[in-house]
Amino acid sequence: MKKKFIKVISLTVVLAIILVGAVVQISAADTSTMSLDNASGYAGDNVKITLTCSNNPGINGWAVYISYDSSALELVSVDDDSTFGAITTRYGNPIRVQWYGLDDVTVNGKMAGILFKIKDNATPGDYPITVTYDKDEVVNQKEQNVEFAVNNGIVTVKENKVDNHDLKKVDAQKATCTKEGNIEYYVCDGCGKWFSDATGTFEIADHNSVIIKKTAHTPSEWIEDKAATETDKGSQHKECTVCGEVLETKEIPVIEPTKPTGDDSTDPSGDEDTKPTAKPTTQGPTKVSTDNNNATLPNGKTPSAVSGTVKTGQNVIVFTILGVMLLSVVSVYVIGSLKKRKRNN
Ligand SMILES: [Zn+2]
Ligand SMILES: [Zn+2]
Repeated sequence: MKKKFIKVISLTVVLAIILVGAVVQISAADTSTMSLDNASGYAGDNVKITLTCSNNPGINGWAVYISYDSSALELVSVDDDSTFGAITTRYGNPIRVQWYGLDDVTVNGKMAGILFKIKDNATPGDYPITVTYDKDEVVNQKEQNVEFAVNNGIVTVKENKVDNHDLKKVDAQKATCTKEGNIEYYVCDGCGKWFSDATGTFEIADHNSVIIKKTAHTPSEWIEDKAATETDKGSQHKECTVCGEVLETKEIPVIEPTKPTGDDSTDPSGDEDTKPTAKPTTQGPTKVSTDNNNATLPNGKTPSAVSGTVKTGQNVIVFTILGVMLLSVVSVYVIGSLKKRKRNN
């Protein structure tokens, strides 16, 4: 008997538990709820948390407060792409978001989207985002408080993994005199970091360090752009033989008029400018032919005196020959006259 009684009791208790569970479940499904979802990212990423509501019994206005951990997260913006229509936001921590309508609105879904930036120095881990409200600020048209259950959210800051990089190779490029070059390196599509190796082990912190400076230009010889004349200066330049850039420019000085050189055939200016060289050539032979008698001393000296001013070798030879001829003539004359005297005596 006792055993049977215990069996009945047990069965009743089990049935009761099942029944209560079902009721609780049904009521949970019917509960008006505001929920924040979860998001995750790496330090430096932006993540969005969305506030939604379900089983809305009809409300005329709501205002909520959303709190976050300022040590890891930074508020970027709150979007008003809400199923309720335009919302107003007061930035801060907590963030205050509110909406007021005219009728009891029974829509469900997105109330607000909150964009956070995970701080660059955020420690990996879970950071709760909580939503709270003042009962007097969630009301229906009859000014009655409407209660909502709340589900908080979490932002998970993920641990950076070295082997997670998605590396793209950047080919090396030679520098020229017009363009900088670069050494070969790798860039991670995920985190944007640069590495010197394909496995992402050695990070390049200083992005300028991959740059190869431009090479020097290769200068040409002087290239004449405009020839100089006796009145105008000319110009010339040096340019790069690779890229053609003008590297240096310089004037070419005016050409000085050419000075007479003593050459008769090229001297148009006549006797006045003529150097003494021209005179003896005409005077020498004249004296020989006209002053035969007392030419002994002066004529003997003339050739040597003249040769001192003579500039060209040709003239020296001419005067030497003339001198020798003169001396011979004089000698013949003197010897002749001496013989005559001897005969006459
Ligand atoms: Zn990466
Ligand atoms: Zn160049």
